[in-house]
Amino acid sequence: MSGAIYAGSFDPITNGHVSIINSGLVAFDRIIVAVLTNTKKSPLFSVAERIEMLEDAVGGDPRVEIDRFDQGLLVDYARKKGVRVVLRGLRAVGDFEHELQMANMNRHLDEGVETVFLMANDFFYVSSSLVKEAASLGGNLSGIVPELVEKKLRAKFGQ
Ligand code: ADP
Repeated sequence: MSGAIYAGSFDPITNGHVSIINSGLVAFDRIIVAVLTNTKKSPLFSVAERIEMLEDAVGGDPRVEIDRFDQGLLVDYARKKGVRVVLRGLRAVGDFEHELQMANMNRHLDEGVETVFLMANDFFYVSSSLVKEAASLGGNLSGIVPELVEKKLRAKFGQ
């Protein structure tokens, strides 16, 4: 079985993430979606809330496992899960430099783990931070985030 790790903050999951997971399932038999719990950014949603939204959006597919990634190197976590591919999404030129650095650092740390990039599609302009900003200002996010996320964002910002 070929598998991949898709790690991120998912604060919250957007339809951009969902589309990368769905495209990833064309290439891989299983995808482990790993929620980074000790992100440097201070998250809007708790880990439990982020996992709940992930479960709701993509957890129904038996090929998708949702897990949390608390500490240590991503390459070590991948090894532990028996997976040798890290899946990432590329949105725009702006993502490229940071992703190039991370992919090569991870390759340096463990030559047996490779990073695979998938191009963003319809949701190339969507990021969790922009979604939060728009939500905080009362913007309509339907079609950009899963329904439960929309609901939770509205509740967070008291709308
Ligand atoms: P982080 O903030 O830790 O990078 P994210 O949850 O924002 O975590 O992103 C995880 C991965 O998903 C990254 O590879 C990112 O480029 C990708 N991604 C995020 N949003 C989109 C999108 N709209 N389309 C495609 N890929 C995306």
